[in-house]
Amino acid sequence: MLTAGWSEGICHEARNFHDVDHGDWGSVALFMLQSLVPARADDKTRFQVAIEVDGSSGEWIEPLALRACSGQQNIQQLDATRFAAIATPQLLAKLPGLFHITPLTNLAKIVSYGLKPGWMLDRKGRKDIHFSPFPPHDRRNEMMRHKINKISRGQDTYAVISVNPMKCPKNSLRFCLANNIVLCTEVIGTHAFDGIWTLGWSDRVESHQQWIYEPMMEDIAVTHFQGDKSYPDTRLASLIAEGTEAYNIILAECQESSPKQIAHYHRAVNTPITAKEQSDHEGIPMRRCPACLQGTASRMAHCLCCSAEFMGQFRGGGKSRRQPDIPALFRVPPKSTASRRASSAPATVRQRPQVKLTLPTIVGLPWKTALYPSGGVDYEYIVSQRRMRQPVDDKG
Ligand SMILES: [Zn+2]
Repeated sequence: MLTAGWSEGICHEARNFHDVDHGDWGSVALFMLQSLVPARADDKTRFQVAIEVDGSSGEWIEPLALRACSGQQNIQQLDATRFAAIATPQLLAKLPGLFHITPLTNLAKIVSYGLKPGWMLDRKGRKDIHFSPFPPHDRRNEMMRHKINKISRGQDTYAVISVNPMKCPKNSLRFCLANNIVLCTEVIGTHAFDGIWTLGWSDRVESHQQWIYEPMMEDIAVTHFQGDKSYPDTRLASLIAEGTEAYNIILAECQESSPKQIAHYHRAVNTPITAKEQSDHEGIPMRRCPACLQGTASRMAHCLCCSAEFMGQFRGGGKSRRQPDIPALFRVPPKSTASRRASSAPATVRQRPQVKLTLPTIVGLPWKTALYPSGGVDYEYIVSQRRMRQPVDDKG
């Protein structure tokens, strides 16, 4: 159809190019093939061409087929394993990581429900999640360079999600050799994220990139926040009251007296995540936001419901965590009707079992130990310390 002089079934767009004289060595077909050759070393390979070759002479005969390597918008694309092989653990071990860029507005859904391929959210979405094995500003990063340049000129804020390849579902990752990207068709759970930060124009301080998700943040007690308190008194009352009557009393007290409202707020903010709240986000560590009193991901630096920014103190990952005393629900003195709210009762805090070390006692040598939580048990370990050293002479 692209050959000059072809008369049958020429499509509308191709017709305009047919009667052009391209000289001895040119033709539309040739120009099209040339346009597919990456001009620079860091250009992406977007298409692959299969060419029929004469078996005896090795001469090229004609192009046989052409296909897009990746980035297909259509779910009905070619079998991805034809151009991207399953990434083996040995290959994954060699990759610096997996990095995915997404608009910041998608973050609440991603942290709540995991990272999903586009087609699960939109019918025209991509079949795979695309990852680069290098961080956005890494010089080796060919895949994201164009996107980052575009983003830095735009108004929207983007986030970079770093995923631990070893925590992804088994055999879910495929490596596309043509453009060094990693593809995944399965949902990547939040537990596999090892960090999220806002994307700036560079990794330099002036670019103001900020960490917004880090697993260690779970161990930081939120003591302050930046942002407005944004909860209705009804939410406060329903958190700390048991039964309609108690709820109405608390609601009335909140509305008539400020000191009482403050006292109720302190009870509410220390109310642990309820079973109902946790069941909506299974497997995701949560905390109560002091600004809106709703449950939010505890590994985030801000609230996913109201955007209040959290500030606080590190409780120490190795030390046994002390939970604040959980206030009992506010009850109206019991009458004959029994409580019906057993299902939303707060979870009780159980003392975690500890495995202690048996250490020799030496005068003047105190052991410094800490606890390491693993599999529901706190294991004691020795924290190494600098000791006084004395040179040994010939008298010992
Ligand atoms: Zn909030």
